[in-house]
Amino acid sequence: MITGIPSIDKSIVRHSSRIDLSLGALQNNVSFVRNKIGADPIISAVVKSNAYGHGTQHFVSMLIKCGIKHFSVASSYEAQEVLRSCLPDCEIMIMGILYSRDLEWVIYNNIQYYVFDLERIRQSVEAAKRVGKKAVIHLEVETGGNRTGLPIEQMQEALDLIEANAEHIDFRGLCTHLAGAETLANHFRIRRQMIRYNEAYETTQQKNVLPKLRHIASSAAGLTIPEARMDMVRVGIALYGLWPSPDVYNMHLVEINQVSDNPLHRVISWKTDIMHLKDVNEGEFVGYGTSYQALRNMKVAVIPLGYANGYSRSLSNKGFVLIHGKRANICGLINMNLFMVDVTHIEGVEVGDEVILIGNQDNSSITISSFSDFANQLNNELMSRLPADIPRQIVD
Ligand SMILES: *Cc1c(COP(=O)(O)O)cnc(C)c1O
Repeated sequence: MITGIPSIDKSIVRHSSRIDLSLGALQNNVSFVRNKIGADPIISAVVKSNAYGHGTQHFVSMLIKCGIKHFSVASSYEAQEVLRSCLPDCEIMIMGILYSRDLEWVIYNNIQYYVFDLERIRQSVEAAKRVGKKAVIHLEVETGGNRTGLPIEQMQEALDLIEANAEHIDFRGLCTHLAGAETLANHFRIRRQMIRYNEAYETTQQKNVLPKLRHIASSAAGLTIPEARMDMVRVGIALYGLWPSPDVYNMHLVEINQVSDNPLHRVISWKTDIMHLKDVNEGEFVGYGTSYQALRNMKVAVIPLGYANGYSRSLSNKGFVLIHGKRANICGLINMNLFMVDVTHIEGVEVGDEVILIGNQDNSSITISSFSDFANQLNNELMSRLPADIPRQIVD
């Protein structure tokens, strides 16, 4: 039997990269959103997709420190992750997939969820009876997004069902999702959605079956369309410190009458260290294939992560990292677990030196958007693909 050597501490085994999460940056972003939307609307922090790659457990605990009590997720699986990390007075809302078999679990745990068909209301009544608790639902209405959403023609019937089963159903919210409020060019469509939403709300008033909360806005609409803020704003990307789009940033500048401003701060930093150094002679190729040839004698640093670790292959020969505060360009293809960068111009580079993938070093920085422009991905895509197994740490 192999028992191992007792004096060896398992915690010294290191992952190939690490992520720091800045509590100060998050506090700043929460305050900025709060000032923008005003004191009244609830902020529901959208923490789907492993909190946009930041790590659900860490990010939820940070949000709680910032006074956030409402969390939105995309599935019952994610709701379970949040439930493990939050406090008893926190509220969790599922905006996406909820399998019928999970309904009782969800109701038992007081988790709120979107409903967008009549059958789900009937199922909820039955499940609520079995569990002995009310099902807390948000009725999502179709306003023109044409994803999920109850057709307006079915509103009457839905409200009849809710009214007839009031002892089993808590009609918490009436909601919809705007199809691209981050782009000004979509606003004709968004306005039409808001008109249809208001018609649905009027139906609830006529029947006097009223939702407790009205909510339609994510970050973009919350920051730019005052009428969209209503009783709750579902804020994702802005909490992580990124603008939903250049249009939203420009609208903010117009609103404050300035030419630049930096009110949102990136929460995440991603770093690793140099694994190995190599002198490469002029004319040699670096890595697989022939996509990178040394045009002079050069020194390359080997970085211990690749596309399997969330570092997109489309950064091959395009992206860069920071070493000693200087930019080091990627040479060759991103491999599954390695890539190489040019450090010929950087003095005194040694194995073990810190490498910044996203973040600041000395006076230089790599922002997520510069990085995702190279990777030709949206900010959201890049972050949400950061592997869950990279160790996260909360810093000031
Ligand atoms: C993801 C999501 C949000 C948050 O969007 P951001 O642009 O990140 O603020 C809000 N509502 C729904 C329904 C979503 O799916």
